[in-house]
Amino acid sequence: MFIGDAYHSTSPQLGQGANMALLDAKALDFAIRQCADKVHEVGELYYSLRARQIILFQFLSRFLTPFYQSDSRVLGFIRDHVVSQLVKIPPAPRLMAAMVSGLMVEPFSRGLLGANPILQLDEPDWHKWNDQRLQ
Ligand SMILES: Cc1cc2nc3c(=O)[nH]c(=O)nc-3n(C[C@H](O)[C@H](O)[C@H](O)COP(=O)(O)OP(=O)(O)OC[C@H]3O[C@@H](n4cnc5c(N)ncnc54)[C@H](O)[C@@H]3O)c2cc1C
Repeated sequence: MFIGDAYHSTSPQLGQGANMALLDAKALDFAIRQCADKVHEVGELYYSLRARQIILFQFLSRFLTPFYQSDSRVLGFIRDHVVSQLVKIPPAPRLMAAMVSGLMVEPFSRGLLGANPILQLDEPDWHKWNDQRLQ
């Protein structure tokens, strides 16, 4: 089983690599405890918990990296003169904040664990905190 960059390396623009590695570790710890009597199910549970966020951020990384790391003058122009203006128009600031704080989706897929979707994390209400910061 893999966690961190060994599982899902991306380019660093979104600033999520270390965060995602820590979330992987938490999810794997949870899966191991949950499947103590069924070790062969650990991987399935672990990967299913993390898949949604990882697929999203890998897609975003693949899509956005050329804007920051390429030889294209066109993409550089779009980044500096078009995107830089578009991100000021609501709801773009909120979306950008959610993206760089890793909150575009829940870090652990909900619903898979029925009554215990949050992996027993004592999480703050990040969405509320995010909204307050943007007001
Ligand atoms: C330029 C840059 C900027 C970044 N900025 C951010 C940021 O702002 N925010 C963020 O969250 N993330 C950022 N990241 C990404 C983040 O650094 C990584 O996603 C994160 O460190 C991954 O953690 P990891 O434990 O999976 O791997 P690593 O931190 O790479 O740890 C792997 C460890 O394994 C060791 N190792 C390798 N091979 C072996 C072996 N054969 N035997 C024993 N040990 C071995 C390595 O020496 C290393 O210590 C950035 C990355 C880069 C390159």
